[in-house]
Amino acid sequence: MSSPALPAAAPSRDRVDACPGALQTHAAADGGLARVRVPGGTLSAGQLRTLAAAARELGDGYLELTSRGNLQLRGLAPGAETSLGARLADAGLLPSDTHERVRNVLASTLSGRTGDGHLDVRPWVRDLDAGLRADPVLAGLPGRFLATLDDGRGDVAGLGGDVGLLALSPGSVALTLAGTDSGLRPRPGDAVALALAAARAFLAERAAQGSSAWRLAELTDGPARVAARLGEGRVGHHGPLVPVPSAPLTGPVGAAGQLDGRTALIGVVPLGRLTADQADLLARLAAEVQLTPWRSVVVPDLAEDAVDDAAVDLFRTGMVFDEASPWLQVTTCAGRPGCAKSLADVRADATAAVRAGTLPAGGARQHWAGCERRCGRPQGGVVDVVATPAGYRVEED
Ligand code: SF4
Repeated sequence: MSSPALPAAAPSRDRVDACPGALQTHAAADGGLARVRVPGGTLSAGQLRTLAAAARELGDGYLELTSRGNLQLRGLAPGAETSLGARLADAGLLPSDTHERVRNVLASTLSGRTGDGHLDVRPWVRDLDAGLRADPVLAGLPGRFLATLDDGRGDVAGLGGDVGLLALSPGSVALTLAGTDSGLRPRPGDAVALALAAARAFLAERAAQGSSAWRLAELTDGPARVAARLGEGRVGHHGPLVPVPSAPLTGPVGAAGQLDGRTALIGVVPLGRLTADQADLLARLAAEVQLTPWRSVVVPDLAEDAVDDAAVDLFRTGMVFDEASPWLQVTTCAGRPGCAKSLADVRADATAAVRAGTLPAGGARQHWAGCERRCGRPQGGVVDVVATPAGYRVEED
């Protein structure tokens, strides 16, 4: 097996996996925090309505978009997770109590709707999610484990997936491991089975190394060793290694023409804070939406005569459709009052800087954080704006 090895990282031992879920909530300073996994980022209108009502009645009124296309509710009262879990289960958002935290699946934005990819990864999303849930062993995956399903447009393959499928052509797929090409080349119809086998191989290799690593890259020679386990009689076809595309710094914004003649609108949600009212509006506009890793929402399948009204309605709620907007440049951690470690209300401060046109570093892409942990920092080149007892420190590359 010729898969390149990442630098060995010290295996992590005896760490408690406290990654929050919908049932295993995190006690934040502003109440319980629940993370709802949304494989492929796809939500139906009914699911949006359920989430909006839950945010309003159980949380702080917001749905936070995460860099993995998932959602978070904050400000939950003690015990609210029981009601939340029942609501999510009724809406099909909690199909498994045992596997809910391991359903981290990123898929190419607009796959199957625009012609930028080689194939439609939406069936992969359904099959991978079903395969994860069907295997009791895979309930042992860490809550941070991530799968990326890239249709060849190169938007999610570079987002740090532990296991990934990257379409190279309509008939050939690369299996990626910790963001590197493994050289294994399943056919599209076999690709999900191989990705699931890779997830099992990660767990087996982790056990063999006596590690409690959360990510494949944390294992010693993780990608090479997992690929070698898969190569033992399971996969016959190998191909020359290809570079995995770097993830774009931002996703698409605005209107995109679909293959079927309809239009998709992609709007950025400033700081990833979707209000319950915005979620209800999205549910009125489309049968389903797609959340992206860039804190935006895709409203697909709009008829030509509905696009302008939809864009105006969403714009009035604060969603952004201008790719030159400073809102596309700024991400933040939770900060005060949600995080007890924070030295500042970073969301309020970043919002004030956007509105006043005073973003530091000339408005370059930047992540504001309330402490040195820098939670939620995006991949790629980012200026760090870190709160200190004496104000913000700006760290440019
Ligand atoms: S970066 Fe620090 S302040 Fe911000 S959410 Fe993480 S721990 Fe809290």
